[in-house]
Amino acid sequence: MAAIRPETPTARTLVLDAPELGSTVAGQHIDIRLTAEDGYTAQRSYSLASATGARPVEVTVERFEDGEVSPYLVEDVGIGDPLEIRGPIGGWFVWRREQEEPVQLVAGGSGIVPLMGMIRTHAAVGSTAPFRLLYGVQDPDRRYYRDELVRLVGPGLRVDVRYSRRAPDGLPVGRIGAAELATLALSPEQQPTIYVCGPTGFVEAIADGLLRLGHAPERIRTERFGPTG
Ligand SMILES: Cc1cc2nc3c(=O)[nH]c(=O)nc-3n(C[C@H](O)[C@H](O)[C@H](O)COP(=O)(O)OP(=O)(O)OC[C@H]3O[C@@H](n4cnc5c(N)ncnc54)[C@H](O)[C@@H]3O)c2cc1C
Repeated sequence: MAAIRPETPTARTLVLDAPELGSTVAGQHIDIRLTAEDGYTAQRSYSLASATGARPVEVTVERFEDGEVSPYLVEDVGIGDPLEIRGPIGGWFVWRREQEEPVQLVAGGSGIVPLMGMIRTHAAVGSTAPFRLLYGVQDPDRRYYRDELVRLVGPGLRVDVRYSRRAPDGLPVGRIGAAELATLALSPEQQPTIYVCGPTGFVEAIADGLLRLGHAPERIRTERFGPTG
């Protein structure tokens, strides 16, 4: 563990040297295994927040109160502590610099992590593919990568945030639904490749909404982080 960066009151970024890790592509994830003194092991997947090929790699972990692994990664593990990791894993939910088509990213909570890897790669390679991010988060305190996203917004990247519980003045409170997908996301006519990531319930609702709007199923890529958040 090379460094640790707090992101929100309940999430932090772990910066991992990980020389054993193969070459990475934005959107992939790694498996982190914890082994207790009695030999009991628990393993969970964490997406790479870092850009394609970047070293050290970064993962951002959200703490689940009654979780087995996330509380340890968010509260206990320290710089210099060893972590058993495996990967990178994944070949479908990835963005590659050769892709020139428009890209629509839709994130729910911690689901922004692999999409941030894609946004960082897009910026690092100077890609001209139009990128849009629609980011659903409970409240402003739970936003990840706030300042960096503000810096990266420009002709190549548009970011819209929607707050489901509390919003800054002037912004509506509400989940990302059909109206937001119709007005804030790229249209089916623009033929974007769409990456949707977050808790299972969020991903399924967004994917359904996109299909109803007329987006082609083969253009929608989904990554579920687990139980309905
Ligand atoms: C491919 C992939 C990539 C992932 N990337 C990330 C990432 O970048 N950052 C990150 O924070 N997590 C990510 N996750 C989720 C992560 O793997 C764990 O599920 C999460 O950290 C909880 O593990 P835990 O051991 O703390 O909780 P567990 O002991 O597994 O579960 C504890 C409780 O939390 C609930 N819970 C567990 N996971 C979720 C969830 N995702 N949403 C809502 N409720 C949940 C369970 O229902 C249970 O009640 C990813 C999952 C997958 C499959």
